[in-house]
Amino acid sequence: MKPMIDLNKQFLELKDEIFSELKEIFQSSQFILGKKVKAFEEMISAYHNVNSAVGVASGTDALFLSLLSIGLKKGDEVITTPFTFFATVEAIVYTGAKPVFVDIEPETFNIDVAQIESRITERTQAILPVHIFGHPADMVSILNIAKKYDLKVVEDCAQAFGAKIGNKKVGSFGDTGCFSFYPSKNLGAYGDGGMIITNDISIAERIRLLRNHGSKSSYIHKTIGYNSRLDEIQAGILSVKFKRIEEYNRKRQEKASLYTSLLNGYVKCPVVKDNMTHVYHQYTIVSEKRDLIQEHLKRIGIPSVIYYPLPLHLQEALSYLGYNKGDFPIAEKISSEVLSLPIYPELNEEDIVITAEAIKECLRK
Ligand SMILES: *Cc1c(COP(=O)(O)O)cnc(C)c1O
Repeated sequence: MKPMIDLNKQFLELKDEIFSELKEIFQSSQFILGKKVKAFEEMISAYHNVNSAVGVASGTDALFLSLLSIGLKKGDEVITTPFTFFATVEAIVYTGAKPVFVDIEPETFNIDVAQIESRITERTQAILPVHIFGHPADMVSILNIAKKYDLKVVEDCAQAFGAKIGNKKVGSFGDTGCFSFYPSKNLGAYGDGGMIITNDISIAERIRLLRNHGSKSSYIHKTIGYNSRLDEIQAGILSVKFKRIEEYNRKRQEKASLYTSLLNGYVKCPVVKDNMTHVYHQYTIVSEKRDLIQEHLKRIGIPSVIYYPLPLHLQEALSYLGYNKGDFPIAEKISSEVLSLPIYPELNEEDIVITAEAIKECLRK
């Protein structure tokens, strides 16, 4: 079986630059909160045209510390999507707040903004949209609702580094934008890492305290914080990859176009909404024959993954929230019909053709 994502190809291309970064860091013996993290934070804030970026230990922590920094507490409610990676909701639960789900739209798999207002209560404090698979959520509508009800907005951009609405990048719409540098993400480290971007200097300050034991100067603690720092080694590696992120995303878009040109009419291919830029963290098709397709691909050694097989409102870990089957019909139906195909910048076009042919063959039978 071929791998779903081959990180080694990219490593071989970047090897010399990465080793020279590592050498510099090892020789400096500065491993925590040094100049590599600071320089990388500056690259990220400039790229997003925001005034602050704060490196943290993971995407999950980026969400958690964001939610703390906007003042979330026990009993508050946060509106989010049931069709996302589990960490989105874990971050809400860590603060003591309650996740409140809203169904998704069937085309982009993002939160259905038309259903948000009906879930707002006097306890609602924030909306947490996820730009799932790299397609932006409808931030214009979400910001309008947030303004009307005086809610905060935290964006989960873990799968959408570089995605845009018009010319504005995701993460720069909400009070904070949260990124993950998990190795398989569009901008991936060689370990864990995360980043929060914001235009609010006081939020950035709070997160800088929270990520480092509540401390700004050594052994003086203003608050109870955490140990959640992006480390110098990951920041150095990420700086090398960041220089190429536009090229990497463009290559993902080219691979996606090829898949779509071959598969359109056979399965539902990803759509891109007007004025939006999709960065294809995943290339995800929809078919009632999903299981058949996956079986067939597996038999001939082609990988594919179901992101996500069980929506979050039906997860055992969240049963205490009291949701039932049927509560979010679109998320449930989509979970039973989606299949993600291999996509990464270095993927061979030949492999795309082979995968598409195999899917068509299976559907012709
Ligand atoms: C990867 C991911 C996260 C968590 O990021 P980590 O860096 O793995 O903690 C959160 N939300 C979404 C949507 C993700 O895909």
